[in-house]
Amino acid sequence: MNKLFYLFLILFFTSCSTGKETKIPCYAWMGGPGDATDNQITSEFKDLKEKGIDGLMYSAGHDPEVYRRVAKIAKAAGLEFHAWIPTLTQNNNPDMKPEWFALNGIGESTYDKPTYGAGHYHFVCPNRPEVTDYIVELYSKIADIPEVDGVHLDFIRFPDVILAKGLWKKFGLVMDKEYPQYDYCYCDKCVADFKAKTGIDIKTVADPSQVEEWKQFRYDLITSLVDTLTVMTHSRNKLITAAVFPGPNSIAKKIVRQEWDKWNIDAFYPMNYNDFYLEGTKWIGDVCREGVTSINNRKPL
Ligand SMILES: [Zn+2]
Repeated sequence: MNKLFYLFLILFFTSCSTGKETKIPCYAWMGGPGDATDNQITSEFKDLKEKGIDGLMYSAGHDPEVYRRVAKIAKAAGLEFHAWIPTLTQNNNPDMKPEWFALNGIGESTYDKPTYGAGHYHFVCPNRPEVTDYIVELYSKIADIPEVDGVHLDFIRFPDVILAKGLWKKFGLVMDKEYPQYDYCYCDKCVADFKAKTGIDIKTVADPSQVEEWKQFRYDLITSLVDTLTVMTHSRNKLITAAVFPGPNSIAKKIVRQEWDKWNIDAFYPMNYNDFYLEGTKWIGDVCREGVTSINNRKPL
């Protein structure tokens, strides 16, 4: 709900202050539908529309039929509808095999040891064909629904190798550099593929954070998954968008391995939460400028 609150307010007020001619589309992030009836959802969506919301990033698990039902109501209320589905975090999902989960630099799996002990931090490895097949199928079933305008990726990244500064206190950490217990993925396939590509056995390197090729290898794994999902989504004439970390160069690449300026998605929604980074509001402008410049202003940010 943190996310809903911030983006709702930022986008709502941005659009209100810029007037009709330059209206920036306002999106609201929300989850549901729980036990809500069609009538209840309809009145909630009509209310949002009246308040200036143009589209929803709506999270409703993995069941396409739930998205079909809610998307139909959203369209009737005049709202765009994007299915907001976490990509590489797969929590309590019985379809996921234990060996599909990412391993850190000391050999622990997020399957039974979620990073930072956070309940939702069960990340799967983006380098496993079984994982990417599963994810592509999941999103394609939802992109096939006529009323769905697009899919919205989230957690399309590695676990934070360095947490945002504003979270250090909460976890009792000082993250002055990359530590192996927060660094992923060191599964057999990632290690072997990297060795085949570069000749480097990353498990024998004293400080993997100094190996530029190892960073690039992992940026490319995420980019490749995004590319696959983009081709699938566009083949269905649907949109694909993503929630990304601020940057990409100042933060996203460094802490979650997102080289998102290389992605061919239709819009970027950076999570420029200044308080996470102990920054003031001017910083929001700085990272927005960085993002727009990095993607050459070729898509909305
Ligand atoms: Zn791996």
